[in-house]
Amino acid sequence: MAQAARIARRKAAEVQLIAVSKTRSADEIRPLLIAGHRLFGENRVAEAAEKWPALRAEFPDAELHLIGQLQSNKAGEAAAMFDAIHSVDRASLITALGKAIRANGKSPRCFLQVNIGAEEQKGGCAIADIPVLLDQAKQQSVNITGLMCLPPADVEPAPYFALLAELAERHGLKQLSMGMSDDFPAAILLGATHIRVGTALFGPRAR
Ligand SMILES: *Cc1c(COP(=O)(O)O)cnc(C)c1O
Repeated sequence: MAQAARIARRKAAEVQLIAVSKTRSADEIRPLLIAGHRLFGENRVAEAAEKWPALRAEFPDAELHLIGQLQSNKAGEAAAMFDAIHSVDRASLITALGKAIRANGKSPRCFLQVNIGAEEQKGGCAIADIPVLLDQAKQQSVNITGLMCLPPADVEPAPYFALLAELAERHGLKQLSMGMSDDFPAAILLGATHIRVGTALFGPRAR
């Protein structure tokens, strides 16, 4: 991270490392907390609800981000548990999050997830839908601070990172959630403010 930031002439501290702890047990996560790391990402609400209440009791300043797809019926639980949500991608979910935020007063920072490679099976909104979803979020008090993407697998990711950065700039959004274990240096070069790294920290995930 420091190397990539130096090449990009950015401050390393501008880039936040989200330790992606999905599938990892509390015993695997705790050593990172003891070493002083505080920012973690989970991709499922139910899994996070099992692991994190106890970890947060030990480490109250831990920060938890949701990086996986969110069903509208889990929006309330997610808004209460997560400090940030990276997977906001459709009108129905924005409506559900808005309701939850107004009901419980906790307002996580949100990223609009963009289906940057226009892939059939992938989550994320179409590029063309970004303006209308941002408008809707504003009206419903859903605080969108940036864009997030997962580029297509097995192709060079840099053009997709560059495109996401351009879209964020066009819409006046400051944060960019992009880059994982295999491609975070390129993401940092292209402006990532949050990288999401699992395997490079914890080792390969069990299948
Ligand atoms: C699992 C996951 C990651 C981390 O992937 P690694 O290759 O293990 O670093 C990042 N982002 C999302 C959305 C994920 O689901």
